[in-house]
Formats: sequence, structure tokens, C-alpha cells
Amino acid sequence: MKIDLHNHSYYSDGVLSPSELVLLAKQQGCTVFALTDHDTTDGLLEAQQQADNVGLQLVHGVEVSAKWSNMTVHIVGLGVDMNNAVLKQGLKRHQAFRQIRAEKMARGLGGAGVFNALDKVKLVAKKGMITRTHFAQMLVQEGVCKDMRSVFKRFLTGKKPGGVGGQWAQFDEVIKWIQTAGGKAVLAHPLRYRMTNTKIKRLLSHLSGAGLDGIEVVTGSSSADEITQVSQWAKEFGLLASVGSDYHGWPNQRVRIGQLQQMPNVNETVWKDWLWQD
Ligand SMILES: [Zn+2]
Ligand SMILES: [Zn+2]
Repeated sequence: MKIDLHNHSYYSDGVLSPSELVLLAKQQGCTVFALTDHDTTDGLLEAQQQADNVGLQLVHGVEVSAKWSNMTVHIVGLGVDMNNAVLKQGLKRHQAFRQIRAEKMARGLGGAGVFNALDKVKLVAKKGMITRTHFAQMLVQEGVCKDMRSVFKRFLTGKKPGGVGGQWAQFDEVIKWIQTAGGKAVLAHPLRYRMTNTKIKRLLSHLSGAGLDGIEVVTGSSSADEITQVSQWAKEFGLLASVGSDYHGWPNQRVRIGQLQQMPNVNETVWKDWLWQD
């Protein structure tokens, strides 16, 4: 069974539509697939229609930004009811902040000589949501920066032009939104936060104290050592293991849907109690 529980469509910062994404997942041999756009479930209906068409098990997901100790972490909700009022309201709050943040970022970039940034970025973002990735893509397109990496070095972070602090809900709130909507809360890509191992363990202790269900043990870019490391943490903190490529469809992204390494602790998975339809 090929499982991939972390993927993005153009409803957040991915390139493909939900139906293109589901079709691609099917073509790559995925049997279970989750759409997990940033702070929105708007792509799920379309994804579900396509999943029914092609015969793929779709897990309704969302990737929610959350605040932990003045840092931003990502918590994936898997198996959520997208009509749940608590989740909907929480996501609405984050969407509103993303809108305000986009305006502030555009003003910051204007001060650094990048004019009409908001209009330009709106052309890059296919749906209503504007993410930092869209700003970065726009700056590369405009020839202001040569690639995405240099964008984040010069702009969009900290005190640099276009840097706006993330006003996300606290991690315990986010976990509650997901669980109230019937989903499992999973910490996404634990090794991508540029934290020391000591700090990650502190994060895990706080999050599991707040009821976190799982952690992504295998991601699209995991090395064998990293998988062993995160798998140990999963055991230590009593967390279920999840797998997800974090596929966005960017031309420079090497990861592919469903092309994931084997998980070591196959019994304690986030899907162990899920019932698959035949
Ligand atoms: Zn993420
Ligand atoms: Zn993601």
C-alpha cells in the first residue's frame, strides 16, 4: 500500500489543481492520499470528486500553521470534517491573517523598491490565498532575486523588507481545532524548523502534552538517519508515525508524490485504526 499524507494544491502554494494532483497520485501508484493545503480545506471537494472517479482513497487534510515559543510550526490535520464549525472558524482566522500579512509584506517590499507587489503577487497566486512562497515566486519572476533561496535571504524574514511575524494560533489551540473536527493532529516535517535536537524534544514534549497524535517520521526529503532519529522520538513521546512527501509540484522540487522511504515502526502508524474502503 502506497501512502502519502502530505500534499499541496493551488488552493495554497502548490502548482496543480486538486483534481490534477489526485490523478497524478493515482498514476504514481498511490492508494491512500491526503490533500493538506495550508490553512484551507477549500480544495477537498474537488479532490474528493476526482478520488471517486479514479478510485483512490482520499484523506481529508489540512496543514495548519501554529505558534510555539515564538516560532512557527506546522501541524497537519488528517481525517478532518471540513464542515466542523470550530475548525472552519479557526482556519478563517488564519486566512484573514494571511490577507493582512500579504498587504504588510507588499508595503515592506515597496519600501525596498519593489513596487505594486500586491498586484503582482495576486497574478502568481491562482486562488485567493497568498503565501510567502507566492511572494518569493513573484520576486524571482520579476528578476529581483535569482532563486527562491536568495529571496528568503534578502526578503520576507525577520527584520528584512517584507518580513512579517506570523500571528498564528497557539499550538494547543490548533491541535484542539483538528481534534474537534475528528482529525488526528500530526507535527509536520520535524527536522525543517532549524532547531537543535534538544529544542525539538522540548517542542515534542509540549505538543504531546497538548494531545498531539503523531509526527511525520518519513518525509519526501528524509535520509535514513533522520528516519531513525524521528522514529525514536515518536516512541519516546508516544506519537503515531505518519508519512508525507509535502509535494507542491514546483519545477525545482525533487520530491514526488508517493515516492517515500519505508517506515520503520509500521505498527504505530497514524492510520492504524482507519478503515479503508475496498
Ligand atoms: Zn509545512
Ligand atoms: Zn506542507
